Amino acid sequence: MPPMDAEQVRRYLEFYQDLGVKTLYRLPSRAAAAEPVQDAPPAAASETPAKILMSPTPALPPLAPAGDTILRILEDLGDCRRCRLCESRKKIVFGVGNEKSPLVFVGEGPGADEDAQGIPFVGRAGQLLTQMIENTARKEGIPLRREDVYICNVVKCRPPDNRTPEPDEMAICGEFLFRQLSAIRPKAICALGGTAARALTGHKEGVTKMRGKWLEWRDIPVMVTYHPSFLLRGYNEAAKREAWEDLKKVLHFVYD
Ligand code: URA
Repeated sequence: MPPMDAEQVRRYLEFYQDLGVKTLYRLPSRAAAAEPVQDAPPAAASETPAKILMSPTPALPPLAPAGDTILRILEDLGDCRRCRLCESRKKIVFGVGNEKSPLVFVGEGPGADEDAQGIPFVGRAGQLLTQMIENTARKEGIPLRREDVYICNVVKCRPPDNRTPEPDEMAICGEFLFRQLSAIRPKAICALGGTAARALTGHKEGVTKMRGKWLEWRDIPVMVTYHPSFLLRGYNEAAKREAWEDLKKVLHFVYD
């Protein structure tokens, strides 16, 4: 395998960090192991070579460029062709709303309406999400409109037939999602559905187990709730009530 350049190493490390791997060990290359390093400080007497070779990498490279902004992320994303989802998409669905919002909603991926318009959550599920946000906020006495929050997805291109995004698609696109979240630095994130919750938190459970609980993306609290598409299916009255409870929790946490 050819050696990775600095950018590839950064992505690689970032990917593992998001999987929860906090410490990486560096093994010597064969050449380096065979030859003494000229400028290396002498090993302390108590340090065995194995210990030196296995010491953790001191610092991960920055997770996002310094001074990153939503505009810069959008420019870097460009007319993205980094994964197979570009082949069938009509429009990239980057994200919408207030870039300074203390609350970000993250869904799974664009559907047909979003793909046509380039805006997240504008189809039936999106209309329900808008109602959920605005009606819950109004009932709780919080003056909040959809445009006051930021809304985006784990993947920015529509998966064919609305299938669940593949792990490699989420890993590639996740880099841009994570830069968006780092640039916005919201007080809380609301993960809509199991795919978003698993992509953000690394937890592997289904949404029923995760919903209503505070999990974390890096150090930002993540409230998991049902995806509005799930709530649109009939006979989901109990789930609708639960989603309402989850939303109340996150709105009070952010806006009280
Ligand atoms: N479902 C999603 O997960 N995201 C959208 O933008 C629309 C529907």
